[in-house]
Amino acid sequence: MPGPSKPRLLLLLPTATYRATAFVEAARRLGVELTVASELPSTFEQAQPDRLVTLDFSDPERAAQQAAEFARRHPVAGVIGVDDDGAVVAAAIAGRLGLRGNPPAAALAARDKHVQRRELAGHGVPVPRFELHGLDEDVRAVAARVHYPCVLKPLRLAASRGVIRADDPAGFVAAFDRLRRVLEQPDVAACGDWARRFLVEDFVPGPEVALEGLVIDGRLEVLGLFDKPDPLDGPFFEETMYVTPSRLPDPAQRALARCGETAVAALGVREGPIHAELRYNARGPWLIELAARSIGGRCSAVLRFTAGEGGSGKGWASLEELIIRHAVGLPIPSLEREQYAAGVMMIPVPGEGVLREVRGIVEARAVPLVEDVSITAHPGEALVPWPEGSRYPGFIFARGETPEAVEEALRAAHGRLTFVLQ
Ligand code: ADP
Repeated sequence: MPGPSKPRLLLLLPTATYRATAFVEAARRLGVELTVASELPSTFEQAQPDRLVTLDFSDPERAAQQAAEFARRHPVAGVIGVDDDGAVVAAAIAGRLGLRGNPPAAALAARDKHVQRRELAGHGVPVPRFELHGLDEDVRAVAARVHYPCVLKPLRLAASRGVIRADDPAGFVAAFDRLRRVLEQPDVAACGDWARRFLVEDFVPGPEVALEGLVIDGRLEVLGLFDKPDPLDGPFFEETMYVTPSRLPDPAQRALARCGETAVAALGVREGPIHAELRYNARGPWLIELAARSIGGRCSAVLRFTAGEGGSGKGWASLEELIIRHAVGLPIPSLEREQYAAGVMMIPVPGEGVLREVRGIVEARAVPLVEDVSITAHPGEALVPWPEGSRYPGFIFARGETPEAVEEALRAAHGRLTFVLQ
C-alpha cells in the first residue's frame, strides 16, 4: 500500500497519444502515485487495480461517478486531462471529488470552437467575425454572402485538421466539399451533432504565436510564448516550427499575454494548463484558439523550467512536472523558463503515401544545437497531408543561445532528412 504521504494523480489518457511518457516520467520523478484512466479496459486492470481504471470519456458525468467509486478505495489528490476530451472529463471529476480543476462550462467552452467564439466575443476578447453553418445548407448561397478571405473549420477537431482558408466563392465551395468529407469520416461523424456543423470566420492576417500557460486560482502565468517563424497563411494550417523566446517587440508580447488573460477570464478557466494560438497585426492581438490542456504531440520537451529547491536532480523541471505539482497541490518551486532559446519543428508531411524509410537521421542529429530528431511515423504507415491529416511524421528539437540560431538549426536538420515514400 502506498504511504499516506504520496498523493495520487488520476491521469486521463486518450488511447493514442505521444504524451503519456512525459507525464509518467514526471509523476515518477515527483514521487506521485499514478493511476491512468483510459476509455478502453486494459487486461492489466485486474492485476493492478490501483494503477489503471476505465472511465466512460464519452459521458463526463458517468466518468465522474466511476472516478468517485475508484477514489473511495484509492484516494485521489488531483486529476489531469491530457487532451481536449480528457479536459472536459477532468473538469467533471474535479467537481465531483472536490479537486483542483475547471468548472465544466469552462472546459466545454475551451473544447468547442463555436461556444468559445461566443463566450470570447461576448466578453470583448478580440476574435474574428464568425458564423455557424450546417453541412445541409445551400453552400453556394453561403459562399455568396461571407467575407473573404475566410476560414472554414470544424467545431471540435484538433491540430488544424479540416481547417481551410477560402479566398472567393469558388474556393469556398471547394473548401466546403473537402471539410464535409473530413466531417463525414466515420471516426468523426460518430462523435456527435457538432460534426454536422462548421464555423466560417474572417481570416486574421499577421504572425501567429502559441502561448503556453498555467492557470492558478484564475490567474494566468505565461510559461512560454512561441513564435511560429513559417507564415501560416493557408490554405491549410499544418504547423512547422515553434521557437521561444518570441522575437516580437515587448509591447506586442505584453499585449498578447493580456489577450490570453482576458480569454482565460472570459471562458471561466480557473485551474491548470492552457495552450492558446494568437495572432498579432496592426489592430493588436487576436485570440484564435484556447485549449484547457498543455501543448500537444512531443512538443512539451522544448520547455524546461528552473528547478529551484527540491528539483528533480537533473537541474530543470519539465512542463509536466509543473502541471502535476499544481494538480495535486505540491509546492511549485518556479514558473521561470530556463535561459536558453529552444524550438521544435513538427516535421511537415512530405507527401501522400506509405512511408518506406527516413534517411539522414544521424546527419540531422549531428547538426549543432540539435538535441533530438524523433521520427514517430513507422515504416508502412500511411502519411496523410493536411487538411485531412493531423499527424506529423516526427519532431526535431534544438536548444541554443538565441532563437535565430535555434531556428537555423531546425531548418538545417530538416534539410538533411529524406522521406522515402512508396
Ligand atoms: P485546431 O484546434 O484544429 O488547431 P484552430 O482553430 O486552432 O484549430 O485553427 C488551426 C490554425 O488555423 C490556427 O493555428 C491558425 O493558424 C489557423 N486559423 C484558424 N482560424 C483562423 C482565422 N480566423 N484566421 C487566421 N488563421 C486561422
